[in-house]
Amino acid sequence: MDIKNLESFLKENNQPTFRLKQIQKAVYQDGASAFSEITSLSKDLREKLDQEIEILSFETVQVLQSKDGESIKALLKLNDGNFTETVLIAPKPGTWSACISSQVGCPMGCKFCATGKMGLKRNLTSEEITDQVLFWRQWLRKNSSDLTSKPHPALRATFSLERRRGKLSNIVYMGMGEPFLNWDQVRESLQILTDKNLFGFGSRSISVSTSGIPEGVAKLAEEFPQVNLALSLHFADDKKRSEIMPVNRKNNLESLKKSIQNYFQKTKRKIFLEYIMLDKINDSRQDADNLIKFIRSIGNVHLLHVNLIRHNPTGSEFKASEKNRAQDFKNYLLKNHIGATIRKSAGDEIAGACGQLAGKL
Ligand code: SF4
Repeated sequence: MDIKNLESFLKENNQPTFRLKQIQKAVYQDGASAFSEITSLSKDLREKLDQEIEILSFETVQVLQSKDGESIKALLKLNDGNFTETVLIAPKPGTWSACISSQVGCPMGCKFCATGKMGLKRNLTSEEITDQVLFWRQWLRKNSSDLTSKPHPALRATFSLERRRGKLSNIVYMGMGEPFLNWDQVRESLQILTDKNLFGFGSRSISVSTSGIPEGVAKLAEEFPQVNLALSLHFADDKKRSEIMPVNRKNNLESLKKSIQNYFQKTKRKIFLEYIMLDKINDSRQDADNLIKFIRSIGNVHLLHVNLIRHNPTGSEFKASEKNRAQDFKNYLLKNHIGATIRKSAGDEIAGACGQLAGKL
């Protein structure tokens, strides 16, 4: 929602100053999807607002839900006809994470990623970025009764209805795009998400993920030291990384190492190293040794945690590592005192998992 537009509207209509806060709370925190739902406003004002102000800056084209109800993907049509996507994931009962996009497409060209194949169409505005969160807040408000009354049989046994209801509690910038290449709008979106009068998320419940742009890492540390940082490493060997992730030709492992060290100095906070597991490409014992060596060379090993993600199908030549191979890789890291987890891939059946977003039906 365009907040400035709302402010001017209220001023022009001689509304008292508290009205803005009242509407902001109803829209951003309670998930009202139309002004007509805000019954504390007069009928006349509600009607005028609905005629003049759009709450969302896009149209919903399609919402797909996985069978287990754990992942939901939305395809959204922006005002200029471009499309973007956003995903809602339940990493554990009672908790929802919104995975949001910062660009339409992505210029980084990582070879395993469907978004990378699209190239960059354009940057999203801070409004378009935060409206994705608004969209999910509205969606949860409208659908939580469906989610609770019709859980998938597999879930019925595991989760009580009460726990299924859940809240949107985490935001991850891991959808389409490289957030640090759209920093001005991403910065503004972070301010909106953490503004107590708007969404009011705690900084620590937000994560920004980068493919490795040192200038961006430095800006995040400086301006939002409490926001979590995830770095898509995927390879700890410059030759392989440059081949599959072109960003490495400009920002190699040595520059990433320095950037991580500076981040630690400034924030003393943990970084999550994302490591997509590609069958026989980066999942050998040698690859694990390279990763251990790289992590040890950075120092502060306790502040680095490796998230292993088995590759999701994206129509590329890459295949996911075998489950056993991923498990061995993780165990080897643990044996060498490197924190590591195999992240459950959410959303692959609806093409909403990491690297699968391509802005189409
Ligand atoms: S993996 Fe991330 S940075 Fe790389 S192309 Fe895909 S969206 Fe862009």
